[in-house]
Amino acid sequence: MTQAARIPLSAPDMGAAERARLLRTFDDGWVSSAGPVVEAFERAFAEATGFAHATAMSSGTAALQVALTMLDLRPGDAVICPTLTFIGGVSPVVHAGARPIFVDCAASDWNLNPVLLEQAFDRAGAEGLTVRAVVPADLYGQCCDIAAIRAVADAHGVPVILDSAEAVGATFNGRHAGHGAQAAAFSFNGNKIITTGGGGMLASDDADLIARARNLAAAARLPAVHYEHAEVGFNYRMLSLAAAVGLAQLETLEARVARRRAIFARYQDRLGSHDGVAFAPEAPGRRHTRWLTVMLLDPEITTVSPEHLRLALEAADIEARPVWKPMHLQPVFRDALMINDRVAEVLFATGLCLPSGSGLTDADIDRVCDVMEATLRP
Ligand SMILES: *Cc1c(COP(=O)(O)O)cnc(C)c1O
Repeated sequence: MTQAARIPLSAPDMGAAERARLLRTFDDGWVSSAGPVVEAFERAFAEATGFAHATAMSSGTAALQVALTMLDLRPGDAVICPTLTFIGGVSPVVHAGARPIFVDCAASDWNLNPVLLEQAFDRAGAEGLTVRAVVPADLYGQCCDIAAIRAVADAHGVPVILDSAEAVGATFNGRHAGHGAQAAAFSFNGNKIITTGGGGMLASDDADLIARARNLAAAARLPAVHYEHAEVGFNYRMLSLAAAVGLAQLETLEARVARRRAIFARYQDRLGSHDGVAFAPEAPGRRHTRWLTVMLLDPEITTVSPEHLRLALEAADIEARPVWKPMHLQPVFRDALMINDRVAEVLFATGLCLPSGSGLTDADIDRVCDVMEATLRP
């Protein structure tokens, strides 16, 4: 009997189209950032997501870093971030020279709670800090309440740079994730819903913003043969080889969203009736991509903890992962200001991310469910 293969959390899902594009790009001689392939990917991404402009980067973190650098942050400046997120949405704030202020998430969508946002501005003022931007996230494939967040930010005259790294393919009232902010960053890291191996994109309807970001990501070189520079930039350009893979991945985005949602539905069907089991909510108007299916275990109803379940899955060679550890609980941010409603802390303590890759078969999901059912059974 052959050993069943390991089931990963969210592995790259590559096919013949990706391979063909990659080889064609290689054979055409486009391996660096030069040439038409990166541009073609930028245009295709902008078209698929409804943005007027987009510039490709080496990662989602790089896209945020460039966007925040354009704000010219200084000591004494603060940027408001959700506490429940991956650090890639926060480290650019620190590198750009500001202090992050964390805000708890809403139970309805697990994203930055707009009702608490006003308190974060008040707290910053009391501490003598100047808030210069709000950087919410679209967690696990679901859009944040951008209209409500934007209303508060607008009232304070600061821009919203949206970390939509996890939300390629997500929509809110039919509009793609990232709209409603001044600019949005996306990620094509290996575990995301579409991947270029590693890569990112900054998108906006503001032509000047994207032109400046594109220049900053390419060493801030001014148009002169002798390399003229009026400011310092980064080397954050996407490679053509990555863009080629991205072009092929983008063509099947809708199918990938449908597959992830079907995986979520299968988990919910098989496990939803177990006592104490719940799943991440999908808020009104939103199409959650279910980039990751996240399950919750109510400790007042079941004695099985997320860690107990994770270890049982690991013993069966299945990868599951805790919910993001909130930023205000991270040692590196122990002194940061935090508007706490104890929502993220509970999600971290009770949540578990299940294998969700679009390449997984129904039989794979059933294997995961079999292990979980055996563990959950009283
Ligand atoms: C993946 C991710 C990022 C960073 O994207 P990279 O392409 O890995 O740099 C930022 N924020 C969130 C929420 C992410 O999940």
